[in-house]
Amino acid sequence: MIFMMNIKKAISLISIGTLSVGALYGQAKKPVPSEQAKMNTFVKQLMAKMTVEEKIGQLNLVTGGEATTGSVVSTDVESKIAKGQIGGIFSLTTPQRIRKTQEIAVTKSRLKIPMIFGQDVIHGYKTSFPIPLALAASWDLDMIKRTARIAATEATADGLNWAYSPMVDIVRDARWGRVAESSGEDEYLGSQIARVMVQGLQGDLKGNNTMMACVKHFALYGAAESGRDYNTTDMSLDRMYNVYFKPYKAAIDAGAGSAMVSFNDINGTPATANKWLLTDVLRKEWGFKGFVVSDYTGVSELIDHGLGDLQQVSSLALKAGTDMDMVSEGYLKTLKTSLQQKKISMANIDNACRLILEAKYKLGLFADPYKYCSEERAKTEILTPGNLRYSREAAAQTFVLLKNQNKTLPLKKAGTIAVIGPLGNTRSNMPGTWAVNADLANTPSLVEGLKAVAGNNVYITYSLGSNLTADATLQKNGTMFGREIPRDDRPEADVIEDAVKAAKQADVVVAALGEGSEMSGESSSRTDIGIPDVQKRLLAALLKTGKPVVLVLFTGRPLTIKWESENVPAILNVWFGGSQATNAIADVLFGDVNPSGKLPITFPQNVGQVPIYYSHKNTGRPLAKDGWFTKFKSGYLDVSNDPLYPFGFGLSYTTFNYSNIKLSATSFKPGGSITASVTITNTGSVEGKETVQLYTRDLVGSSTRPVMELKGFRKIDLKPGESKQVNFMIKEEDLKFYNAQLKYVAEPGDFKVFIGPNSADVKDSNFTLLSN
Ligand code: BGC
Repeated sequence: MIFMMNIKKAISLISIGTLSVGALYGQAKKPVPSEQAKMNTFVKQLMAKMTVEEKIGQLNLVTGGEATTGSVVSTDVESKIAKGQIGGIFSLTTPQRIRKTQEIAVTKSRLKIPMIFGQDVIHGYKTSFPIPLALAASWDLDMIKRTARIAATEATADGLNWAYSPMVDIVRDARWGRVAESSGEDEYLGSQIARVMVQGLQGDLKGNNTMMACVKHFALYGAAESGRDYNTTDMSLDRMYNVYFKPYKAAIDAGAGSAMVSFNDINGTPATANKWLLTDVLRKEWGFKGFVVSDYTGVSELIDHGLGDLQQVSSLALKAGTDMDMVSEGYLKTLKTSLQQKKISMANIDNACRLILEAKYKLGLFADPYKYCSEERAKTEILTPGNLRYSREAAAQTFVLLKNQNKTLPLKKAGTIAVIGPLGNTRSNMPGTWAVNADLANTPSLVEGLKAVAGNNVYITYSLGSNLTADATLQKNGTMFGREIPRDDRPEADVIEDAVKAAKQADVVVAALGEGSEMSGESSSRTDIGIPDVQKRLLAALLKTGKPVVLVLFTGRPLTIKWESENVPAILNVWFGGSQATNAIADVLFGDVNPSGKLPITFPQNVGQVPIYYSHKNTGRPLAKDGWFTKFKSGYLDVSNDPLYPFGFGLSYTTFNYSNIKLSATSFKPGGSITASVTITNTGSVEGKETVQLYTRDLVGSSTRPVMELKGFRKIDLKPGESKQVNFMIKEEDLKFYNAQLKYVAEPGDFKVFIGPNSADVKDSNFTLLSN
């Protein structure tokens, strides 16, 4: 603080002097130090005063323990802060508590260095938004950015300044529970979302309502083998650079101030100790200037990875480029000794410390350590009616209508609706897995949401119908952190019978089935990714009544719902939609809002197809399109290669017609471009939104190229009968990929372009990229 004031004074004197001389005599101004230069001087002067212990203290991140996000809890936090042994805290909220904690740092510690306050602000804060996978299904970048902006406004009003978001791991294995936190399988969509999330959270980082983003989990966490959480990743450079790296890079290019390391082993070296990843790629290739934090106990977990004891692994992690140690306290306990033993250098510590101090400087914490501690803001800017309204609007944009036979939906606002199923009357399961700050008790349940929207002509009943899972232990493990769903321990047939009675008395059944919100998310991998069997038996019984059944599907991952897709007339996939999920579900079920979500990830027919994704390679023995089994072709004996629902798929209450693609030319030179256009017409009777998708295929490459790659999309609004032309410009840049030498190049030759409503239903045309 003191240094900051001195520097500020000096700088303002310099600039006043320069201004007056320049103004009087019209001479050239002396250069005013840039923001960067000011920061460098400040941090350098501060570090010159720091002891080794104080520098190591800055690298230590502890948890305040308000939310359970890991199994170890930090101890003696207050005394460590006073001793300058802590650089930041996470999971501690409210301006009052944060001010009190910051006060210890800036009044009791010798150098009065403020702390940074982090939190998992993932899909909203107290106003929660749909889970990230759902947000991706909106394909609405402005909307996603706005959800991040609102999340940052609320979180900073509650004292926080550092968000552990965006999570940009590509996921192609639906068994992995953290798919819920991702943007799905595609690097193009994922990169766009990564960018707007960073922009939404950080803004220009100047005001007190923006916060530092932390792109995670670097890297390749989403490719954990067998979909088992924290498991090993082994991946070719081709796939890394062309797919999995892209969203991280997009977030870094958008200016993310920090990055979090993934837990897993990457090609033989855990990411936390992976110098190639954290230094060569992240810093040297990509030019990342922010700081890198380990994941929760990621440093001490290197012991279990088999890299040595705490002394050894802490030095490995620091040297690799992990600047801040989350919760392990390995740095705090061992780095000084490692320095004395010359296992690490002073430059290693200095470098990490500098990056963390720079982050604090950029956040304005040296100028005002209490910048984010406004009790007034906490009272007025959190859970505002406007934020809740936006949460409702946003949620409705994320639902994906998977099936709607005979226009079962929308429902009439009349008659009796039987809501049946374990997800129908729970509040706590609505916000979703990472809603650690959401008000679980006050989020309306589906029954409540429907009642609020239905009006007086609708009578709504509820029956549990089945437990979440038949096995009580599985249900317990899938409903942690207060996401309980009551169990009915009578014989299954009796519970179903009650539901069947309710169904028979109704005009329509809304079956609220699927996963509890903690059946996806961290440490929630599944090997059976269907709707639990007990719920399926309930569904079969409901269908037998002959009443129209609408399946409202709650899920944090793609589910294998082949039987359901064949037998249930209408399926609305609602993911987990945040604070206003159920009002939004009601808006869509009753047709006040037309659904427009499209899948950001492929739904497999069965779990054996996983990993399944649209942008696969062709192989040397491709199966003919629409084929199933052909001997000596790449396929299965027992199932076709087709997904159940393809990437990009989603229906509407209206229909859209796509005209043939028109290309402005059939070839272009590097540096040039062509335009691909289609006309979309709303051929139904209600207004609707359509996401038009453009894909390309590089037909001949120096390396094998995917059969399709998303390269653009537009979400448009069309009134009944209205047509709009959508134009996509295709440039050389769009055709680039990392070749075998990891050069990012576009290779001249023939390409296909595809446009359509989803990856499996496209019209195509051809063009050539000419040589220069
Ligand atoms: C998760 C991170 C999260 C961190 C802090 C970890 O277990 O992997 O995504 O940011 O905890 O809560």
